[in-house]
This record gives sequence, C-alpha cells and structure tokens, in this order.
Amino acid sequence: MAPIRIAIVGYGKIAQDQHVPSIAANGSFELVATVSRSSGAPEGVACFGSVEDLLASGPKVDAVAICTPPSVRYDIARTCLDAGLHSLLEKPPGVTLGECEELVRIAAAKGVSLFTTWHAQYNPAVEAAAERLAGKTIDAMRIVWREDVREWHPGQQWIWAPGGFGVFDPGINALSIASKIFPGTLILRGAELLFPANRDTPIAARLDLTSPAATGAVTAEFDWRHSGGEAWNIEVEAAGEMLLLSEGGSHLSVGGQELVAPGHGEYPGIYAHFAELVAGAKSHVDLAPLRLTADAFLLGKRIEVEAFED
Ligand code: NAP
Repeated sequence: MAPIRIAIVGYGKIAQDQHVPSIAANGSFELVATVSRSSGAPEGVACFGSVEDLLASGPKVDAVAICTPPSVRYDIARTCLDAGLHSLLEKPPGVTLGECEELVRIAAAKGVSLFTTWHAQYNPAVEAAAERLAGKTIDAMRIVWREDVREWHPGQQWIWAPGGFGVFDPGINALSIASKIFPGTLILRGAELLFPANRDTPIAARLDLTSPAATGAVTAEFDWRHSGGEAWNIEVEAAGEMLLLSEGGSHLSVGGQELVAPGHGEYPGIYAHFAELVAGAKSHVDLAPLRLTADAFLLGKRIEVEAFED
C-alpha cells in the first residue's frame, strides 16, 4: 500500500524531538511537508507558511499531525478536516471541550480519521497497569507530577497565556494515564490552583478526585517549581497490592518488583495506531483528561503565589 502522505503543522520541540523520527521509522508514512511560521522543516522537506498555503500550492497530503500549542489547534484542525485530511492532534486536543466535540462532528461528516493523542498512554507499562487493574476496586491512588518548568518549557510563553494550561500541560499527561488505568470513571471533587501573581495559568495544583471504583483517597499534585530531577509517579493500592508507575509511566512495579512490558513506546505506538485508524477511516477520540482539567478550572480555588520570571 502507498504510504500515507503526512504534513507536520507547527515545527517546535515535540515535532522535532518525537514526530519527525517516529514518522521516519514507520513505513506507513511519508513526511511530505511542514507548516511552520518560522520556516522549520527537516532537510529536503517542503515548508509552507500556513495550512491554507499548503492546501493551495503544496504537494498532495492525506494526513496532518498538528503539533502547535493547543490554543490555535481548533482553527487549524477544522481547516484540515474540512479539506478531507486525516488529523492527528498533539495533546491536549483543544482548549475547550466544545472545540473538540465540534472537531469530532466534522471528522464524522467528512469520513476522515480524528485522533486525539495522549502520548503517555502509549507507554507499554501503562497498558500493563490498565490490564492489571481492570475490574478491581481501588483503595487509593496518589499522583505526584513535579518538574522544573525552566527545563521543560524553556522560553515558551504560550504556557502562561489563557488556554496555555500552565502546570496542567504536564499534569494532563498524568490525568491521561490515570483515566486510562483506572477501572472506573474519575470525577473531580475539588482543586486548589496556585497562580503566580504575574501569570494567567497555574504553576502548581492539587486535585481531589473520586470514582465509583474507589473506596479511598484519589489525589493529584502537580508542581512546576521543582528542581533536581523530575518526579512523575502514580501509586495505586488495589487488592492488597501496591502498584507504582514511575518516570512518566515508562516503568511499572508491583509490590516493589519491576515488571517489563513489551510494546512500541510512546510516539512509535501513536503512529502505529494512526496508520490503523487511517486505513479504516476510523477515529479515536478520548476527552477524559481534558474534561478533568476543565473541571479543575471550574471547581478550583484560586490561590495567588509569588510572581514567576523565566
Ligand atoms: P513549542 O516548542 O513552543 O512548539 C510549538 C510550535 O507551534 C512552535 O514552534 C510554532 O512552530 C508553532 N506555532 C503555531 N502557532 C503558534 C502560536 N500561536 N504560538 C506559538 N507557536 C505556534 O511547543 P511544544 O513543546 O512542541 O508543544 C507543542 C504541543 O505539544 C503542546 O500542545 C504540548 O503540550 C505538546 N507536547 C509537548 C511536549 C514537550 O516535551 N515539549 C511533549 C508532549 C507533547 P512554527 O514556528 O513552526 O510555526
């Protein structure tokens, strides 16, 4: 079968670090163009200033991977879906649930694939944890997601603007893992959001959740004011076992014993799945992590903390 001709829209950190190599390593895809305001593209790949330019004068494309900040994702995705392009969305799929639901409607009407990716879910250890917890009652779950914003988002200003998610930009990765492994719907009960005095998005957050499948506390703590290495851990107590997903969901241990799970890994797994979706013109849409985040902003108590300078 001829490869799926794909364009990357937004040529920033994640496009270069993960999408380009994963597309190159997957024979089902051929990277034929980028759309970039800063003229970014791998050597030999054509670059266009906007999706409209690509559609008007670019090579034929079948699909796009939209790797921009989330606040501009909806308009770009709508243009691509309207043009009949299968569309892969970086996380988070939009800044509101309303935007995402409208994209779902357009993709269905056009008969093309819409894929809301959550890269952390594609860790083999996360899939193994989901299988292990299926059908169980959860006694407690504790999410701790701490990192240094200066290291992970150097100079990125969009993360602090409304719709930039602040600490929920990484925190939503934890919620994407939690909603995948939890054997029941997670529901937000309360939140505290810590906003720097000079910023429009939170630098830290504490969430209190519940679920019909949980008997005890389900909590999450996100913090960007952390130095000396990341802490990206989810601990789950269930049926007398302590399960720990660590290092962003890439490692799983049960009762202190490390388990090795086979699989593609994050972005290779995403592109393997996208190829299957495109082949069947099917969509894969998961809005649970965005819904929990939106609910945290709806329910969250705002607490002002000291100003943050890059
Ligand atoms: P980034 O380095 O800032 O890159 C985003 C790119 O989008 C920019 O370089 C720019 O590329 C393009 N863009 C288009 N419209 C823009 C606008 N209005 N403002 C700013 N940039 C605009 O960001 P990133 O870290 O790659 O993150 C992009 C998305 O991937 C986010 O949703 C993020 O949550 C997700 N993600 C990031 C990581 C990570 O480790 N960084 C990991 C997983 C997922 P051009 O100059 O080419 O137009």
